[in-house]
Amino acid sequence: MKDRPIYLDNHATTPVDPLVLEAMLPYFTENFGNAGSAGHSYGWEAAAAVKQAREAIAQSINAAPEEIIFTSGATESNNLALKGIAEAYFSQGRHIITVQTEHRAVLDPCAYLETLGFEVTYLPVQPDGLLELDFLEKAIRPDTVLVSVMAANNEIGVLQPIDKIGAICHEKNVLFHCDAAQAIAKAPIDVQAQNIDLLSLTAHKIYGPKGIGALYVRRKNPRVNLAAQLHGGGQEREKRSGTLYVPQIVGFGKAVEIALANQPEENERLKHLRDRLWNKLQNIPNCTLNGDFSQRLPHNLNISFADIDGASLLLGLRHTVALSSGSACSSGKPSHVLQAIGRTTAECQASLRFGIGRTSTIADIDQVAIAVQKTVTSLRQMSAD
Ligand SMILES: *Cc1c(COP(=O)(O)O)cnc(C)c1O
Repeated sequence: MKDRPIYLDNHATTPVDPLVLEAMLPYFTENFGNAGSAGHSYGWEAAAAVKQAREAIAQSINAAPEEIIFTSGATESNNLALKGIAEAYFSQGRHIITVQTEHRAVLDPCAYLETLGFEVTYLPVQPDGLLELDFLEKAIRPDTVLVSVMAANNEIGVLQPIDKIGAICHEKNVLFHCDAAQAIAKAPIDVQAQNIDLLSLTAHKIYGPKGIGALYVRRKNPRVNLAAQLHGGGQEREKRSGTLYVPQIVGFGKAVEIALANQPEENERLKHLRDRLWNKLQNIPNCTLNGDFSQRLPHNLNISFADIDGASLLLGLRHTVALSSGSACSSGKPSHVLQAIGRTTAECQASLRFGIGRTSTIADIDQVAIAVQKTVTSLRQMSAD
């Protein structure tokens, strides 16, 4: 019996992989030690588990283990990066550059920094959702200390040209922070090749537990200074105090290992399902794909339907499929990302974000396509009657 809708909201969160949970469980009970307890085997066991996870995460982005700071998730990582850099470099400059389509966990810390006297430039994007590199180059000033651009957008799935952004920042001697919460294991991330100085990660978008993430902070060429935002026991090289959440860290490491081992095949499978869904949905009249199609996460579609009441659309679909209109975090308000690529308020509300996942099947996709087609058609008929 199937009583719950098909889950296509994998940009909001993903279920914990059973193998991840299995790896975590002993660290709640038998191996409960504090990773900072250097004097006994309880502490050593915990520290060894943290070390292994740290190495796996570092390796997945081509970083060194000492460059990984564990946090509570990408929101905290973004806050630590933006506030920590602003504070550490304010005598060199108080200008930060970001993009209008960033996650709120970047935009809101930027707005907060503006209240403290920092100046922030919010670059627009092109109608395909991608950043115009010329605009970035022209926005960089002598007092610019940081550029923050996400790798993959959580609503429209577009992949920003982070290789080129990193190269520009490197050449102009400006630090580059990248929110990779959606990109990890879906798009190539290499902090060396891409000249990334700070990178935000989270576990719960890749089948790991919620409440754990990391910030990569470059230690050479250049060595990045970062002002801690949490003070206390001095964990994580004094950059983020607090007893390490060992079971979550173990789960994060395991989730990264699994995602990377299966990355090429799984991304091909997701892309295949995504293309199948788009092929079916584009037969619906007056629908628009939001965001560039080729520079895109393999599991994302975001579609606006013209002449439809957005609330009725979601209501009509809620028994068949669990998904978001715009972004889960700002539901209610029209999506700032869709507005930035030129959608009207009504179009924003009549938009659906599909996030296909590890458990999605061809049958799921076909069922969802039929439900969307039916719902859109009947809502349009009702409003025409
Ligand atoms: C989910 C997400 C975040 C927030 O991550 P949390 O770990 O839930 O705090 C930040 N940025 C992007 C792009 C995201 O998709």
